[in-house]
Amino acid sequence: MGERPAILAVDDQAPVLGAVLRDLRRRYGKDYRILGAESAAAGHRLLEALALKNGSLALLVVDQRMPGKTGVEFLADAVHLFPGARRVLLTAFADTDAAIRAINEVRLDHYLMKPWDPPEERLYPVLDDLLEDWRAGFEPPFEGVRVLGHRWSPEGHRIKDYLTRNLVPFRWLDVEADPEGARLAELQGSNPQDLPLVFFPDGTSASRPGTPELGRRLGLRTDPRAASYDLAIVGAGPAGLAAAVYAASEGLSTLVIEREAPGGRAGMSSRIENYLGFPAGLSGGDLARRAVAQAKRFGAELLTPSDAVGLRVAGEYRVVELADGSEIAAQAVLIASGIAYGSLDVPGVDRLAGAGVYYGAALTEAMAVRDQDVFIVGGGNSAGQAAVYLAGVARSVTIMVRRTNLAQSMSRYLIAELEATPNVRLRTGVTVLEAMGQDRLEALKVLDASSGREETVPAYALFVFIGATARTEWLDGTLELGPKGYILTGPEVMREGRRPKGWTERRDPFLLESSVPGIFVAGDVRHGSVKRIASAVGEGSMAVQFVHGHLASRVLATRVPASPVAAPTGPLRPGPATRGVGTPVGTPMEPPSVSHRSAAARG
Ligand SMILES: Cc1cc2nc3c(=O)[nH]c(=O)nc-3n(C[C@H](O)[C@H](O)[C@H](O)COP(=O)(O)OP(=O)(O)OC[C@H]3O[C@@H](n4cnc5c(N)ncnc54)[C@H](O)[C@@H]3O)c2cc1C
Repeated sequence: MGERPAILAVDDQAPVLGAVLRDLRRRYGKDYRILGAESAAAGHRLLEALALKNGSLALLVVDQRMPGKTGVEFLADAVHLFPGARRVLLTAFADTDAAIRAINEVRLDHYLMKPWDPPEERLYPVLDDLLEDWRAGFEPPFEGVRVLGHRWSPEGHRIKDYLTRNLVPFRWLDVEADPEGARLAELQGSNPQDLPLVFFPDGTSASRPGTPELGRRLGLRTDPRAASYDLAIVGAGPAGLAAAVYAASEGLSTLVIEREAPGGRAGMSSRIENYLGFPAGLSGGDLARRAVAQAKRFGAELLTPSDAVGLRVAGEYRVVELADGSEIAAQAVLIASGIAYGSLDVPGVDRLAGAGVYYGAALTEAMAVRDQDVFIVGGGNSAGQAAVYLAGVARSVTIMVRRTNLAQSMSRYLIAELEATPNVRLRTGVTVLEAMGQDRLEALKVLDASSGREETVPAYALFVFIGATARTEWLDGTLELGPKGYILTGPEVMREGRRPKGWTERRDPFLLESSVPGIFVAGDVRHGSVKRIASAVGEGSMAVQFVHGHLASRVLATRVPASPVAAPTGPLRPGPATRGVGTPVGTPMEPPSVSHRSAAARG
């Protein structure tokens, strides 16, 4: 429930103001906030603050004779801020002419002669009527986050994308096209360089906030609760979230570290139609929301936005280093960091990224491309889904692929859906050569292989869904990586029957274990993985079995030296071999000294 709508009374004579406020409170105090001001200037300041907070104003009761500004002049200003508020002028007998003129000038609803006693007869019937009227046409203001910026601002896109993917309801206000946006910019006294401005529901605002600041102010968790965990998971896509659900439900203390937003690449999907159990399909956002709720219900902690930038071994612990300088110690780590879209490496694309050129992001920008002609590069399922989704809003969607057909890269159900969508056009054998435009994308230069001709086509937006890469630079030197940075696991890290260099365990690496014991890998980032939600979920849940195996093997290793331990096959619980949430009994392991941000640094 938002704040109650306000009623503002303005009168420079303190006793009169006191009397109005008393009578207003008595009758309307339960349903309205009753505000008072002793001058036009003070009243104006109150209205500005209310408008910035996105509050509602139901009624103004204003004295006509005030120093500096008459009541009518005050109402004329107030109309701009709150056009729907009902307006009542308090007048003395001598002011009635001005009051009558004001009926037209400021669309005055009523003028009230002082004194108004008894209020039951002379005040309340009038105000009841006006407030009932106001209520009938009242649309409660949007109570979420508001983002004020320029349509083509890359920073605006970054913020919108972050909010969309974190499922934070927000309203985008275009400073040029939206009257409310222009009014807010004026009220805030903002300069163009302050934009985008983010207005939070508590009435505060931030100019060009970075994602850590946004996360903090929106109340997302960016500090871990504990000093160490049984399992730290890097990445909250389907693989990481599935692992979190299984690990936490089986009693492991579990922390998930996510750089952007839970859901991962699946969260960008407008409609997933091939995930088991959802015959009508579901959006990636819905899947993420359900998975996060499930993981939290079992006690998993989610740290977002939080970026893992390093990983090291410290005795029994694996330590994840975060971008803010803090560190997380865990007995086992699961890397489920997925893959990211590759960049389209042609002139103009970098410059116009976020200003008409978008990576993924079909969900975020869909409303902004209403009735426009948009283009998609890429021939995979993600491109197909985006095309179907965008076709519902854009005038036309053109999919451009280099190859001659989609059969090898896209599922048949999606190809059929695209063929049945009249405003989707497929152009095969086409290569994008350049993105053109001054401050925003205006056209694309493309090469058509069949004709050998270059053409320039007007384009409002280009969505890129190509060549994903595993961004594992931060793990280079710690884990063995395969081609294109994918992480090697299980049999792949064995060399002619020998365990990896530096391997400390008396067992072979488990199936989803990396070249370092206790560090596991699941989902798209794993070398040889199938790039599907179901397989990422499957690997995430399997990995938890191996985590148990790793923890158990350590315990057994301390008790029965040289006993090889196989990966467990049945559901595991922390049994007698583990203390509470998996800390081996008999091995009093203190977490290594890791750096935590001080309370002051958290701000
Ligand atoms: C638009 C789109 C539609 C798709 N549709 C389907 C579909 O219909 N069916 C299907 O089966 N598959 C679909 N896919 C593929 C599917 O989404 C992926 O296979 C799946 O998401 C992989 O899951 P993951 O957990 O391995 O990785 P991701 O989903 O990529 O998640 C990895 C997460 O790790 C985070 N991360 C990365 N590095 C770090 C770091 N250093 N620190 C902290 N966090 C980090 C990322 O921000 C991300 O949230 C689609 C993909 C896209 C993009």
